[in-house]
Amino acid sequence: MTATRVLLVTGGSRGIGAACCRQAATAGWDLAINYLRDATAAEQVAADVRRTGRRAITVQADVADEAQVLAMFARVDAELGPLAGLVNNAGIVDQPQRVDTMSLARLRRMFDTNILGSIVCAREALRRMSRRHGGPGGAIVNLSSAAARLGSPGQYVDYAASKGAIDTFTLGLAREVAAEGVRVNAVRPGIIDTDIHASGGLPDRVQQLAPQVPMQRAGSADEVAAAVLWLLSDAASYVTGTVIDVTGGR
Ligand code: NAP
Repeated sequence: MTATRVLLVTGGSRGIGAACCRQAATAGWDLAINYLRDATAAEQVAADVRRTGRRAITVQADVADEAQVLAMFARVDAELGPLAGLVNNAGIVDQPQRVDTMSLARLRRMFDTNILGSIVCAREALRRMSRRHGGPGGAIVNLSSAAARLGSPGQYVDYAASKGAIDTFTLGLAREVAAEGVRVNAVRPGIIDTDIHASGGLPDRVQQLAPQVPMQRAGSADEVAAAVLWLLSDAASYVTGTVIDVTGGR
């Protein structure tokens, strides 16, 4: 791809989101790198993007907070210009718990971040990209999880359910806007070696589960990002409403 296009990656400061930002820069995208807490990490990703010759801004915003999401999109409009792509990557897990011990506060935080955050970001992207709103078209990629198929019993059924919602949202939205120049797809990673497992109190989760993966190993953030970048690219111009498993066969 040679023409410059603007891509917003939520949760772009580390893990899969950071890998998406770096690969997208190489593919010719200018980047808006969203993060929640770690400004230094986001700035490091931005520096890597700029080294490729592409533009990059970092934008602090909690995707679970609508006002912060609106402010984030306004900054992207003002500082980078028309949006052409969104990667709904920001997502959280929580400490392992059975459903019969989960608090409503935990469920709200999980669903506000993983479901409502993705839907509100998609809404704002559509208002800019859809031909129905005078936009030029674009692409949205949502980060689901193999948990949507597996259910994550005993660990985080709430997380798995939030990703099941992402799969259904992807299918419905893709069909709703297919005639408006916007493609909507999802990637379902399996066990990927990032910090998300430690953030859920399971720092050894990757090592413990890797032997259960048919390929006998965890995946890397770059292996997930490669699928995301393909879905964003013109090579996937006839692909919408689909979910790609990047799971080593799990
Ligand atoms: P990660 O390493 O924990 O990184 C999460 C990123 O999201 C960070 O950049 C974090 O920013 C940001 N973030 C967290 N909460 C946010 C919020 N409320 N608003 C804005 N940004 C927020 O995660 P990951 O492993 O790369 O996972 C990325 C996506 O892939 C998630 O949706 C996850 O559910 C999905 N996934 C991951 C795996 C896996 O095995 N790793 C498997 C299946 C699906 P700060 O660092 O600034 O807090």
